[in-house]
Amino acid sequence: MRLDVVTIFPEYLDPLRHALLGKAIEQGILTVGVHDLRGWATDVHKSVDDSPYGGGPGMVMKPEVWGPALDDVAAGTAEGQVLDSSLPHLAKPRHDDIEGVAARTYESGEDSDLPLLIVPTPAGQPFTQADAQAWSNEEHIVFACGRYEGIDQRVVDDAAQRYRVREVSIGDYVLIGGEVAVLVIAEAIVRLIPGVLGNRRSHEEDSFSDGLLEGPSYTKPRVWRGLEVPPVLFSGNHALVDRWRRDQALLRTQAVRPELLNHVALTPQDQAVLDSGR
Ligand code: SAM
Repeated sequence: MRLDVVTIFPEYLDPLRHALLGKAIEQGILTVGVHDLRGWATDVHKSVDDSPYGGGPGMVMKPEVWGPALDDVAAGTAEGQVLDSSLPHLAKPRHDDIEGVAARTYESGEDSDLPLLIVPTPAGQPFTQADAQAWSNEEHIVFACGRYEGIDQRVVDDAAQRYRVREVSIGDYVLIGGEVAVLVIAEAIVRLIPGVLGNRRSHEEDSFSDGLLEGPSYTKPRVWRGLEVPPVLFSGNHALVDRWRRDQALLRTQAVRPELLNHVALTPQDQAVLDSGR
C-alpha cells in the first residue's frame, strides 16, 4: 500500500514511521510519501489560503493550490519526502508473533488504478472500523489535510469527477488541522493489512470487529492491590472463557454504547445476559 499525505506541516506526519507502521515500511508492505502543499503555491509569499467569499471569520484553503497538488500526487509525479522507518524492527522478535502471519507483497482488492482520496473534515461521514477494513485493501490512498476553515469545496467536487473521494470525520469535535485525523485513519487502516500485526486474532477480537466493544483484559499478577483477575480466566475451559468474554463485551456495550446493539445479531443467551445486566 502507498499512502500520500498533502499538508502544510510535513513534520506532523513523522509518527507514521514509528512502531508498527515503521515495521510495515521496513517490510515493504507500506510506503508513505509526505508532500508540502506550499510547493504548489505560486505567489512570492507561498500563500495557500484566502478570505472566505460571503464574509465570516478565518481563511479558506485555495483551490488553485490544492487542485494541481492533488493531481500531481495522485498521478505519482510529485516528489515529496518518502518516510524511512524510525527504528530497525526486523531483527527484533515480536511479542505477538504467536501465529506467525507472514508479511506478503501487498495485493489490492480494487480494480481501479486511481487512488482513493480521503479528506478529513468534521463535516464528513463518521470514520468507522468498517471503513478501515475496506480501505486496508486499497493500493494507493491520498490524504488532503485541511487547515484554517478548511479547503475550498470545489477541490473535493472536482476531484470527485476523477477519483473516489471520501470526506470523513474522526469524531464530533473540531481539531486545528487534518494531520492528526490522518494519523488516526492511517493507523486504523495499516494495522489491518495482513502481516502488519503478528497475531491476526489481535484485530479479529478487537472492539467493533463483531459490532461490540471488547470486554476487559488482564495479565499477571493474579492479585494486584487486592484486586483479583476473574477466576474463569484460569479455568482452562476455552468455551467457558469465550462465553465470559462475549458476556463482558455485551454488558460493556450495553453500558457504554447501547446503540451499537441495534446492529448485532443476538442469540437468546446473549439477550438473557443483557437482560440480567439491566
Ligand atoms: N470550519 C470547519 C468546520 O466547521 O467544519 C472546521 C475546520 S478545522 C478548524 C480545520 C481542519 O481540521 C479541517 O479542514 C480538517 O482537515 C481537520 N479536522 C478538524 N476536525 C476534524 C474532525 N473531527 N475529523 C476530521 N478532520 C478534522
